[in-house]
Amino acid sequence: MGSGTVCLTFDFDAVSLWISRNMLTPTPVSRGEFGAVAVPRILNLLSERNIPSTWFIPGHTVETYPEVCREIVAAGHEVGLHGYAHENVGNLDERQEREMFCRIHGLIGDLEGVPPRGNRAPAWDLTPHTVDIMIELGLLYDSSLMGNDYSPYYVRRGDEITVDTPVGFGEETPLVELPVSWSLDDYPHLEYLRLPHSILPGLKMPGDMFRNWRDDVAYMLRDFTDGVLVVTFHPQVIGRGHRMLGLERWLDELSQMGVAFDRLEGVAEQFLEGRSYGEYSPRYGRSR
Ligand SMILES: [Zn+2]
Repeated sequence: MGSGTVCLTFDFDAVSLWISRNMLTPTPVSRGEFGAVAVPRILNLLSERNIPSTWFIPGHTVETYPEVCREIVAAGHEVGLHGYAHENVGNLDERQEREMFCRIHGLIGDLEGVPPRGNRAPAWDLTPHTVDIMIELGLLYDSSLMGNDYSPYYVRRGDEITVDTPVGFGEETPLVELPVSWSLDDYPHLEYLRLPHSILPGLKMPGDMFRNWRDDVAYMLRDFTDGVLVVTFHPQVIGRGHRMLGLERWLDELSQMGVAFDRLEGVAEQFLEGRSYGEYSPRYGRSR
């Protein structure tokens, strides 16, 4: 087994997640409230194991739960941008998107006491303007795209995508991407959600989800040099008892596998300094 890094990230959406779905009656709002109840459980687990992590917190959560957010910062975790009310930036025009980013940049900067370094788009979608806005705000990295799994890469701007020509890839920017995946997110695995025309079934055994993630890590350690894997949790999802115990067991496995933990800003900084995370160097097939 080689070496590798796992980045635990927590999207503390709280009530904003339900606002963004226009579900404002007491029960969905209370599902968001549970996120704030779960945060101390997660902070306790991370502190017991001395694991650094990155939290993405909407401005709405910062203003609704200032004490809980201060505890996250006081425990030494990084906080990045995650919209104001968990809005999908695809629904905003450029002026609205810029205003939203300026507002949350101020809120998270005030919370952390230092300028934020990263952004994760709610709903993981960007507009053609988002990359420029992030660079203008001085951010180091984004964590919303899905173009790789074990390797950070530079975000492009100006891609030309049409239905009848090949992709015209735009220029690389200095913004680092720390890629995500729906398969590495607790929400679709675990959360039950009934919508007007569909059901997100969720409610899987947490052990099944963590077995998938253990194998993602095992494959990384076997066939990649110095890979890095980003996983996404939501306090309102992972904070239930059986899931917290599943998380504890998975962290036990990871420490037996010898992985390191880092904040996203730490990975982005080292990538910018030239650390070549996640080179494909397969051991599979070498013995044949
Ligand atoms: Zn979110």
